[in-house]
Amino acid sequence: MTDLKIAALEGHMEAKYVFGMILLCSHDDELRKQGLEYMRFIRKSMCIIKCRNRVKQFVDHLWKGNGMLVRNRIPLCRCKNTCKGRRVKKGVWSFLDDDINLCEYSRWDHEIDFFNWLFDVY
Ligand SMILES: [Zn+2]
Repeated sequence: MTDLKIAALEGHMEAKYVFGMILLCSHDDELRKQGLEYMRFIRKSMCIIKCRNRVKQFVDHLWKGNGMLVRNRIPLCRCKNTCKGRRVKKGVWSFLDDDINLCEYSRWDHEIDFFNWLFDVY
């Protein structure tokens, strides 16, 4: 975790992505906010899809299923039934879709779904 944070701070995009997503899965609201900052930066740099693909490649060598990642099941998007973003995707989130009009929090909720699927966290 510490190595990852250092790598993230040094500017490695994949490390930023993984670190940001771990923060987004956190139970601590402050950490989640920090995670949002990381993810927004990566999104602005247009690196989300690239990072996803890289992380997918090395995920098996990482801490898959070692229990390090514990999901916070409270969605970032609190608008539940009224939000359009929540009902767009069924199953695994479509990796290429990054609709700017989508509610941002719902967008990250989908990213969290993907991330947890990747790391076998349910
Ligand atoms: Zn939403």
